[in-house]
Amino acid sequence: MPVNKQIVLDSRPTGKVSAANFRLVEKELPTTYDGYILVRNHYLSLDPYMRGRLNDVKSYARPQQVDEVMGGATVGEVVESHRAEFAVGDFVVGPGGWQQFSMADGMGWRKVSREIPLSAYLGVVGMPGVTAWYGLNEIIKPKAGETVVVSAASGAVGGVVGQLAKAKGARVIGIAGGREKCAYVREELGFDACLDYKSGRFEGELSVSLQDGIDGLFENVGGEPFLQCVKHFNDFARIAVCGLIASYEGAPTIFPNMLMFIARRIKMEGFIVGDHPDVWPKALAELGDLVGAGRLKYRETVRQGLEATPQALVDLLHGGNFGKMLVKLV
Ligand code: NDP
Repeated sequence: MPVNKQIVLDSRPTGKVSAANFRLVEKELPTTYDGYILVRNHYLSLDPYMRGRLNDVKSYARPQQVDEVMGGATVGEVVESHRAEFAVGDFVVGPGGWQQFSMADGMGWRKVSREIPLSAYLGVVGMPGVTAWYGLNEIIKPKAGETVVVSAASGAVGGVVGQLAKAKGARVIGIAGGREKCAYVREELGFDACLDYKSGRFEGELSVSLQDGIDGLFENVGGEPFLQCVKHFNDFARIAVCGLIASYEGAPTIFPNMLMFIARRIKMEGFIVGDHPDVWPKALAELGDLVGAGRLKYRETVRQGLEATPQALVDLLHGGNFGKMLVKLV
């Protein structure tokens, strides 16, 4: 009997998630029927939002259910099709979940070309790339000469934000954990500077780099680095609140003195990229062109095999990735 290996949520984490919260199961490979496709997944995407889905709380999306296949984006090949818009051999990206094969009705799936590497559709030319594009272009709207700060700067979202901001003529300062990540952000991604928030010298280095203040902050992390940035806002600064990963495993979120928001006339806007389907086609086309032309760089951490997926999520939530975190299945 041909089998489909899957990973399901075994138990909800209390505090930090561990690989033991997940369980590998083997199911019979489903037989497709009218209206469905079968996709053989090549790569699974690991994303910070997955941690929030493990909690049984009301949020912008339905929580992950115990004993169900973990949700998540995948990219793969159509191996059976009973839908006119997909043919066997097409490559597609969609909500395939943590499993080798996904049977789907086509909803949320789109065809992709092989002109760029398949894995890029889960990162720089996928949801993280559109997130960067939206927060930068629709909230921060940088002007040439302004200073934009990006946290988690070596990551899937942060790396794109900084490169797009540079292309608009902004001065871009990254924040990342460790010398190696900071060197990559400066030397490979072309940021003007990148500061290591773990160095013990972060506060002083930030003050030196931000003598002209901050006009735009793309916030991916929260926590202490965010509080340090707040001291440097210029009048009419914009903050795109994209993520607060420092708090996803239970640490409290911290918020600065509200008076500063009035004194500096600051605009702060949280957003969820899925709320903006109107910008996706334009953003994806632009990001795809830039990657194809070699003008948008990215890096990936690729783990091997479905069994590696739970630990890959744990590591992602603690900075164990360098660039987009993926699992390769094929
Ligand atoms: P990344 O590839 O950036 O990986 C996460 C990174 O967060 C880690 O590598 C780590 O980098 C950094 N980090 C900083 N501080 C901490 C901390 N205290 N604990 C753990 N990690 C920390 O992930 P993504 O690019 O996929 O996501 C970046 C942010 O964007 C996340 O907050 C995510 O939730 C958010 N997001 C929001 C979306 C939206 O629609 N609003 C959509 C997609 C993502 P380092 O080693 O440098 O510290």
